[in-house]
Amino acid sequence: MARSRLTVVLSQAPGKHPGKRSLEESIVAALLMEPDLEVSVVPNLYDLGPDHTGRLFLGSVKGDMVVLSWLYPRAAFWLLDRDGVKGQFGETKLKPPSDEDDGEAETDTPVDRPQPIGPTGDIPDRHIYTLDLRDANKHEAFVAEVRRIATECRDRREAKAREKAAANPPVLQLGLSLATPVADAPGSPDTLAAFSPEALLAPAGRRWYPVIDYSRCTNCLECLDFCLFGVYGVDSLERIITENQDQCKKGCPACSRVCPQQAIIFPEYKSPAIAGAETGAVGGLKIDLSRLFGGDVGDALSAAVQERDRELVNDGRSAVGATIGIPKRQDSKPQGPKDDLDKLVDDLDSLGL
Ligand code: SF4
Ligand code: SF4
Repeated sequence: MARSRLTVVLSQAPGKHPGKRSLEESIVAALLMEPDLEVSVVPNLYDLGPDHTGRLFLGSVKGDMVVLSWLYPRAAFWLLDRDGVKGQFGETKLKPPSDEDDGEAETDTPVDRPQPIGPTGDIPDRHIYTLDLRDANKHEAFVAEVRRIATECRDRREAKAREKAAANPPVLQLGLSLATPVADAPGSPDTLAAFSPEALLAPAGRRWYPVIDYSRCTNCLECLDFCLFGVYGVDSLERIITENQDQCKKGCPACSRVCPQQAIIFPEYKSPAIAGAETGAVGGLKIDLSRLFGGDVGDALSAAVQERDRELVNDGRSAVGATIGIPKRQDSKPQGPKDDLDKLVDDLDSLGL
């Protein structure tokens, strides 16, 4: 029986940054030498529309998958989930350089979160690993991690096959148990041949839309009330969805600031927490910019209201200020924990430096 091969997809950076292209090319060149990998390249994951060949290819893969992109792992995972590419979250050992310190390592702030609604639909029994290409600047680190993942996936498949065989032992005529050879689970991308590299890499126009992290979202629907551009809706079970993604206003992250669970990701926004970094990832940074620069640092809600008003006016509509869709929790409840680096970036923006 042919061994199944692990699918590895590299999502290119938007634009043609030479340093990023060089890293992408050296990773792909090295991975192509690996016998048990099926490697392909698509344009920036976030930009793939529903009809793009790269998206159709991703949807056709049935087994375990590794996706390398210039996005935070959480952002890439939920982006894929939204596109119907579902699976269990595969934990990577590759971490951002700041997480690798030992003695003085910054620690994530534990966050008590209410019960999330979780992903929709059936989750297939496979793992999706999303690696952030910003986590190392040498291809060797990514190649080593993909190799480790390939071994982990193979071990998992073999263990499952053994469990299955033990539960249903084939019986010989004499009533003896027959050892079943360990079979590779299906999952190799048989359909890869149907997608030419040229079609996979067809240019994709830039897009901008929110991605919901259903492992955090509690379906409070505050984003639905807040957005006045018809981006959000609910499905047949009344669960929040991004219904009209492309109606979102380019560069606007307003609703991510009002989500009580920090479940709304704009994968390409400049602030790490809004772009999908784990909260508290740079928790050691303590800078009070209002003291340093004497600026007036607004809170998240007023920033969101200003951003939404700006887009309303750009659309030829009237600003509404804090009169429509303002989450009630904001009246009494303090903001949830916010990544310090994210706050730093926002504060610098508000100071106009
Ligand atoms: S505001 Fe956040 S938690 Fe509430 S429904 Fe929207 S994404 Fe989910
Ligand atoms: S960023 Fe603005 S336009 Fe886009 S979904 Fe949120 S509130 Fe709506």
